[in-house]
Amino acid sequence: MTTFEALGIDARLIQATDELGYVNPTAIQEQAIPVLLSGTKDFIGLAQTGTGKTAAFGLPLLHIIDAAAKYPQALVVCPTRELCLQIVKEIELFKKYMSGVSVVAVYGGASIGLQIRDLKRGVQIVVATPGRLIDLIERKAINLEQIKYVVLDEADEMLNMGFQDDIEFILKNTPARESTWLFSATMPPEIRKVSKKYMKDPKEVTVGKVNTTNKSIDHQYYVTTAQHRYETLKRIIDFNPGIYGIIFTRTKIDAQEISERLTREGYDIDALHGDLTQQQRDRVMGQFRDKSLQLLIATDVAARGIDVVGITHVINYELPDDVEIYTHRSGRTGRAGNQGICISIVHAKEMYKFKQIERINNSQFHKLDIPSGKDVCRKQFFHFMDKLLSADISHGDYETYVPMLAEKFADVSKEDVLKRVAAMEFDRFLKYYENAEDLNLRERSKMDRNDRSEPRRRDDRNEGRGDSRKEYTRGGGYSRLFVNLGTKDGFFKASFLQFILDMSDLKKEVLGKIDMKDMNSWIEIDRGAAQQMIRSLDGKSYKGRRIRMNDADSGGPAGFSKKPRRGEG
Ligand code: AMP
Repeated sequence: MTTFEALGIDARLIQATDELGYVNPTAIQEQAIPVLLSGTKDFIGLAQTGTGKTAAFGLPLLHIIDAAAKYPQALVVCPTRELCLQIVKEIELFKKYMSGVSVVAVYGGASIGLQIRDLKRGVQIVVATPGRLIDLIERKAINLEQIKYVVLDEADEMLNMGFQDDIEFILKNTPARESTWLFSATMPPEIRKVSKKYMKDPKEVTVGKVNTTNKSIDHQYYVTTAQHRYETLKRIIDFNPGIYGIIFTRTKIDAQEISERLTREGYDIDALHGDLTQQQRDRVMGQFRDKSLQLLIATDVAARGIDVVGITHVINYELPDDVEIYTHRSGRTGRAGNQGICISIVHAKEMYKFKQIERINNSQFHKLDIPSGKDVCRKQFFHFMDKLLSADISHGDYETYVPMLAEKFADVSKEDVLKRVAAMEFDRFLKYYENAEDLNLRERSKMDRNDRSEPRRRDDRNEGRGDSRKEYTRGGGYSRLFVNLGTKDGFFKASFLQFILDMSDLKKEVLGKIDMKDMNSWIEIDRGAAQQMIRSLDGKSYKGRRIRMNDADSGGPAGFSKKPRRGEG
């Protein structure tokens, strides 16, 4: 194992890293630092967050810049404000024993005037998010003429966020650039393209496997119905009493609504999404970072670049469409040598997506049963008892009270004391989970499937592609409803969806695919909600016409067999 000295790093930097407790360079540091110290070579580092990337570029940058020259010489571009601040913070720590070197963070959502003032002070290293940097370039408030080193950090995330043009603009506007260092967790073709266009014969280093999720993360999943997603989330949280985690949703509305609902139910959670002001985001992040908030619920864009130490769980309330987004989400846990758990709540219809993620990530994913109410209570109980047993009783003046307590409890057995303590602590849980239902979506047995009297579902055509399209049931699964309303009635899909949800007072989670034709439509709906939908619509009128709605698969006049196959009609 090599040392920072052997890599040729300045002694003042080594003194600082020593103090930070860095004993040996990490794999990416060992491979990147010698290349970057040469100053004239392009470099691609494929590494996940948490591998020590910041020091891999931060230390050599500090080593090679000219502290006497008071103009920007190095530019680090990264996707988010959080990451930007984080990088500056680390560089500040590394340069503790170097005088005359300054680093500044420029990012959106903060006063541009103050950032311009900071830049004018004469800085050598600028760490920036793409949008704000371009703003500064256009205002001619930053001089990139003498930038020699450009670092693109989390390049794949920047492309995911739509910054490709901005990055190219930045690279084109750094005419004195001698070397470009690109760090990325994955290597999509767009990054390959950027590197071909703007880099010369880059030295490429891969730490671990590209597109491979971190091995320190245990990937788990639970299968339930769309309708029980929220309940399942709650149960997962309750089953993990010491959880410190991030829950990911696909939409801002979901993040906000779930956060409000969980808060009402007594959970310690807040939301982070694009509709918040910078001040609100800072407040939420601050609380989460200092652990005064146990759970954060966030959209992907809002959570990008967040680097919080010690996250125990990442929960995918819904799976992302993109495999890479899954990797970024799960990468928030299992960092810096810690173990982490990434849990996905999967709906039967998402199983194929999940299998794809599993294959591409080349990781073993574990299917678990959603804990029963009893499991949750037991877990909470033991957690509490562990806390009780590990309580620190060495400081207080407890001895003074012991005789008094002993007298008070003289006629109460030890077992009864324990029961009473448990009752005080667990009453809420016990009541709530007393008759908790099974939320697992169980696969029907083969016999059960062969025995069914229903006509074949459309998706049966996909059988034989592995088990991703197997039929699942939770005493439910999907029903398909027929309704004699269609596009001729003036509906578009969104207005139709709104109409049937308003009429039935159901939530959109219960719905599956909706096929609209001119005169009729077919709605997939969780079996448990089908009757409520039929009751609410069948027989009512719309624009003077009587609505007819029935189970499309029950063999009525508008039955399934008449439905065109997907892609036809
Ligand atoms: P990064 O990938 O840059 O976000 O770094 C992840 C974490 O690892 C940070 O908390 C760093 O402070 C820490 N770290 C980076 N390099 C080393 C090292 N050589 N030894 C120990 N910890 C390190």
